[in-house]
Amino acid sequence: MLPPPQGPRAPLQTVYSHSRIDSFEKCAKKFHFRYVLELPADSESIEAFVGKRVHEVLERLYVFVGQGMLPGIEKVLARYRAFWDDHYDASRVRIVREGTKLEDYKKLGERCLRGYYREYYPFDADETLSTEERIVFDLDDEGKYAFQGILDRLVRAPDGTVEIHDYKTGRWVPTQKQLDEDRQLALYQIGVAKQYGDDAPIRLVWHYLQRGKRLTSTRTPAQIEAVKRAAIAVIDRIGVETEYAPTKSRLCDWCEYKSICPAFGGSPVR
Ligand code: SF4
Repeated sequence: MLPPPQGPRAPLQTVYSHSRIDSFEKCAKKFHFRYVLELPADSESIEAFVGKRVHEVLERLYVFVGQGMLPGIEKVLARYRAFWDDHYDASRVRIVREGTKLEDYKKLGERCLRGYYREYYPFDADETLSTEERIVFDLDDEGKYAFQGILDRLVRAPDGTVEIHDYKTGRWVPTQKQLDEDRQLALYQIGVAKQYGDDAPIRLVWHYLQRGKRLTSTRTPAQIEAVKRAAIAVIDRIGVETEYAPTKSRLCDWCEYKSICPAFGGSPVR
C-alpha cells in the first residue's frame, strides 16, 4: 500500500494535471470553458467513452486478480457490455468519424480487451501495486505548483523496477522518439519517485491495446528536471492568461464546446 498523498493544501490552491496543461497548450479557449468557467461538457466523444469503459474493466480485472480470482474472458467481456449499457446515453455520446457505427466502437473495445487478456493471462508476470490511483504531489520544493495524476496501473516488475502503466485505446501509436519525449507519464514519475525514493528505478509503460503493442521508456534525472521546468513554465503562462484565444485544429470536431465556441459562430462567453 502506498503512503498517502502529500497534504494538506491551501483550500484555494489549484492542483494542476497533465490534461489541464495539455488543454491550455492545445486551445486556450477550450481551457477557459472547461477549467475557468467550469462549463459542463454538452457531449462526450465515442472514443473517450470506449476508453473509459475499457479502463474500468481492466481496473476491475486486476482487483479480482489481486483477490486470487481469475475471471474468464467471457466474463470480462460481459462486464464490459454491462458497463457500456449502464453508461451509454445516445443524447450525449457523439460519433465524429463518418461511416463508423456505434457497434463498431463497441466491438473495438471488446477487441482491445480480448487482445490484452490473451497476451497477459494469467496476469502473474508482475505485481500490481495499485490501479486507477490518484497521486498528488508538488512539482517544486516550495509547494507552489501542486500537481495530480491518475495512474492506470502501478506495477512492481520482476526486476524490482516500479512501472507506471498507461492504457490507450486509440489507433495511433507514437514512435519511440515521441514516447521518449512524452510528458504525461514523465510528470507522473515525479510523484511516484516521491513515494518510492529518487533512486528507485522507474519505467514508463504504454499499452496500445488496439494494436497489441507494449512500449516502454525511461527518463534520466536531467530529463525529469527539464519536464518539471517546462510544466511549471506552462502553469506560469496560465496564471497570467486573460485572452483565452481559440486555436482551431482538427481536434475541434471532437471538442465538447464547439457549439458555443466563438471560432465557430458561438457567442463569446466571458
Ligand atoms: S471548438 Fe476548437 S477552437 Fe473552439 S474551443 Fe474547441 S478546440 Fe478550441
